[in-house]
Amino acid sequence: MAKLIDGKLISKQIKDELKVEAAKLKEAGREVTLAVIQVGNDPASTVYVGNKKKACDYIGIRSLAYELPESTTQEELLKLVEELNDRDDVDGILVQLPLPSHIDEDTVIRTISPKKDVDGFHPQSVGALSIGQKGFVSCTPAGIIELLKRSDVDIEGKECVIIGRSNIVGKPMALLMLRENATVTICHSRTKNLKEVAKRADILIVAIGKPEFVTSEYVKEGAVVIDVGIHRCDNGKLCGDVLFSDVEPIASAITPVPGGVGPMTIAMLMHNCIDAPNIRQD
Ligand code: NAD
Repeated sequence: MAKLIDGKLISKQIKDELKVEAAKLKEAGREVTLAVIQVGNDPASTVYVGNKKKACDYIGIRSLAYELPESTTQEELLKLVEELNDRDDVDGILVQLPLPSHIDEDTVIRTISPKKDVDGFHPQSVGALSIGQKGFVSCTPAGIIELLKRSDVDIEGKECVIIGRSNIVGKPMALLMLRENATVTICHSRTKNLKEVAKRADILIVAIGKPEFVTSEYVKEGAVVIDVGIHRCDNGKLCGDVLFSDVEPIASAITPVPGGVGPMTIAMLMHNCIDAPNIRQD
């Protein structure tokens, strides 16, 4: 039976550590501030934005909410981002994705100052990660590294297979595992013999976006399995990209869905706010 990697518990530990740091900063006269911009009222985005605000309140980070109508033009949005870039009292800027189709997401991401890019999506942040320099790291992959480390999973020298090559999960995940000295393989929709490749993994990270796709046929006995996926399954319950009931008996450790990777993403967003160059003065 696999050890359950408890993202709920670990994210709470991280948030409690950050709470102490935020209080110390406040004592020194520095209130950490995150600006969150939402355009339109996509219900899922409203839930995500609400959860981010709740986490800010818990830790003691000031959050500024900008709820803009669906009709907001790209020009208006860019103007707001530029104003926030220039404000000394704003440490992080987050634009909730997806944006309405008349706004180009790449242009918006590139307009956020890399010094305030707490989502870690700006090309400069991605570039810094790829050459091992300091910069913001995309929150979901950064959270997975914390999950592994805080669960005492050795990464160095291990075979790590990542299924998925998206810009926000798969690719930065591969770079982070490389930074931790794993031997990394990235699989994607054109990979041949996916089962055989996945079965090589000591650490298998699944971010494929397909409900319960990965079964025990993809997993080596004793592997650590990290499930990034989150879906509403046919029975109405949440499930991941991994068929938990099938994989759990052969894995040595596994993340559940919900309560695994999900809670870590917001915890790492909060970490990025407190670690912002504005705060650290570097
Ligand atoms: P995505 O759709 O952008 O990427 C999926 C990747 O899977 C692609 O790179 C594609 O090449 C690969 N893929 C698709 N079919 C494949 C196949 N048959 N064989 C091998 N590879 C295949 O998804 P994403 O944004 O990286 O997200 C992945 C999952 O993680 C989704 O379920 C998403 O909801 C979830 N997610 C969760 C969090 C969180 O905080 N828990 C954050 C981001 C994403």
